[in-house]
Amino acid sequence: MKEKLLKATIENIKSLSPRVLEFSLSTKFPIPFESGQFIVIHHKGIERSYSISNQPGNDFIELIVSLNKEGQLTPDLFSKKVGDVIDISEAKGSFLLPDTPQNGICFICTGTGIGPFKSMIETMLNSSSSMPAIHLVFGNRTEEDILYHEYWKDLEAKQKDFHYYPVLSQSSWEGLQGYVHPIYSDIAQTNPDLLFYVCGWKNMCVETRQQLKALGFSRRQYKFEQYD
Ligand SMILES: Cc1cc2nc3c(=O)[nH]c(=O)nc-3n(C[C@H](O)[C@H](O)[C@H](O)COP(=O)(O)OP(=O)(O)OC[C@H]3O[C@@H](n4cnc5c(N)ncnc54)[C@H](O)[C@@H]3O)c2cc1C
Repeated sequence: MKEKLLKATIENIKSLSPRVLEFSLSTKFPIPFESGQFIVIHHKGIERSYSISNQPGNDFIELIVSLNKEGQLTPDLFSKKVGDVIDISEAKGSFLLPDTPQNGICFICTGTGIGPFKSMIETMLNSSSSMPAIHLVFGNRTEEDILYHEYWKDLEAKQKDFHYYPVLSQSSWEGLQGYVHPIYSDIAQTNPDLLFYVCGWKNMCVETRQQLKALGFSRRQYKFEQYD
């Protein structure tokens, strides 16, 4: 059966970094979704998935999209203007927050992989149930690639038990240096009952899966959303 598509109007476009835009989209009726889900953009016979980065309960959705200059979809998407209309699917996916209380959650991501975690963390912050300890390990190449850096720093300063670990692989700065793996491995040493959520491109996801297994975490303790 042919998938039902929705017409989404681009309400706002915000530049987050040299290669990343945040799109706000509205549809005639707000799209029901849960934090962690994604929609599929359909464009000239091409279909590409994008995680929803804002929390449910608004009459718009936000997407964080990285430009792949040689890609089939993102160059066209980056040429769109406010007011343009695109075809999108309803929300999909089972990369969701746990339905049982947790002591702690470690979110591990690179680049636009921050999208579903932004939605999840905002949902938890606004939930009436008590928030678990949260560790956000966010890998990027350079400082200008870090999405919402000030927002995460502010949140760490004001939110008890929210811990932010930005780490850079390709430029030196005063913060953490290298890849995400040693960072979450250290956190794991002192928090054996953590639940891990991992999101980003293939290499990071595959290596993290191997590393968590090697650290002794069971398959029930980690969830993945792989972008390619
Ligand atoms: C469930 C899911 C959720 C996703 N959510 C997002 C999201 O929130 N934001 C987002 O930007 N992308 C997301 N993606 C990836 C997205 O669907 C596209 O693959 C991406 O935008 C490239 O599309 P394209 O047509 O421009 O390039 P393509 O023509 O598909 O790209 C060609 C090649 O480049 C690789 N590639 C593309 N972009 C990058 C990159 N930035 N880094 C490394 N390799 C890359 C692809 O794997 C592919 O091999 C998601 C993918 C999945 C499966």
